[in-house]
Amino acid sequence: MANFRKILIAGLAALIAVQTAFAEPPGPVAQKKLRWNTDTIRIAISRSILSAANISGANAIDAVKRGVRAWEASAGVEFEIVLTDRESSSGPGAAGDGISLITIAPNAENMLIFGRDDLDAAAKTRIFYNRKGSITEADIVLNPTQQFSTDGAYGAFDLESTITHEVGHLLGLRHSNVVGSVMYPTTARNGSLGIPGVLAREIAEVDMAGLRELYSQSGGDACCGVVSGKLTSNPRGVRATDIWAEDAFGRVVAETTAATDGSFRFGGINANSVSVYARPWARVAEYSVFPVGDVTFSEGGSAINRRVQRQVRGFSIAAIGLNGLLSDAALRMLPGQTYNVILGGERLSADGMNIFTTSPYFAIDRSSIRDLDYGEGVTAITFVITVDDAAPAGNYSIYAADRSGATDALPGAIIVPASQR
Ligand SMILES: [Zn+2]
Repeated sequence: MANFRKILIAGLAALIAVQTAFAEPPGPVAQKKLRWNTDTIRIAISRSILSAANISGANAIDAVKRGVRAWEASAGVEFEIVLTDRESSSGPGAAGDGISLITIAPNAENMLIFGRDDLDAAAKTRIFYNRKGSITEADIVLNPTQQFSTDGAYGAFDLESTITHEVGHLLGLRHSNVVGSVMYPTTARNGSLGIPGVLAREIAEVDMAGLRELYSQSGGDACCGVVSGKLTSNPRGVRATDIWAEDAFGRVVAETTAATDGSFRFGGINANSVSVYARPWARVAEYSVFPVGDVTFSEGGSAINRRVQRQVRGFSIAAIGLNGLLSDAALRMLPGQTYNVILGGERLSADGMNIFTTSPYFAIDRSSIRDLDYGEGVTAITFVITVDDAAPAGNYSIYAADRSGATDALPGAIIVPASQR
């Protein structure tokens, strides 16, 4: 998935404003669930953050604290935050020092955490865990070679957003395929699309579902809906399948990735019923996004099994934007407003293309769908979308389907914010 996305983004590089990938924490394999088994997590903030020349704006420590505390209500854990003179994260050995540190000091130990492939990453989190899968320590290193800010300074990473993302890793969350998730693997610098990079400060419902699944005593079953099942007849070459669930309003409320045998499970779903969608990622062909099924949670969990739809699609969407600028970050839209939106990707053509959402709160003017000429092998189309006055806060997906019905989607790529700042 990451490679596929990188290829697409490389193709769109001319369009996408400055942007960088977050680095995946090293260590555990994809399916292994790691979590803390304590009620209180002690985090030490290095004073190197107070004196860092590469953080602009005031009150950096407060921004870091907010980024940490943002998760508290969702995770059901408490953070005990202290300041420390310590600057170095635990070295490359298997055992940590028992202190979970947030640091930005430019020393050798901290630089080592950034591998050759992620030198440009905004930050990186290293997790230590025991044989039972309990996290015992997690160090967050803000990249000493990158610029951060608390005041929206152009071209810098928003410090609070960066910490919020990394604390998600500290808690055991992995990267999300939902565009508006705090755990999405790329982030925009301040100024991309003419807005500060503060979007990722807001923890999405899909992130909370991930946490509930991880931290509820029975793996999310106690509080919430669970969907499990199997996608059968995975065609050869299908490497992974993104699966997400939308509630009755069309909001993305949970997501997961199918295992190589096609089995999947996601819990922590706070909705009475969901519609489930899948996007298989293949090496050679791109497959259509397809509905897996609808689930109503009456007795807690539900199972659906379905064959993978083999419909090949000849196009993809990889970026969304406004004002002539594309990004693979989510777009923020306010109720009652109308927007000229751009979708970018490969082999997109307005001819015969339908753009839609699954939500009753968005109206897309089909007569407005037209090509935009970007050249350089990148294709883009534009359309007019109006958000209903009554649209509830959440992450909504945007879908594109060609004449044959082959469909691609950017799950969660539209954010209707809870607070309209
Ligand atoms: Zn990350």
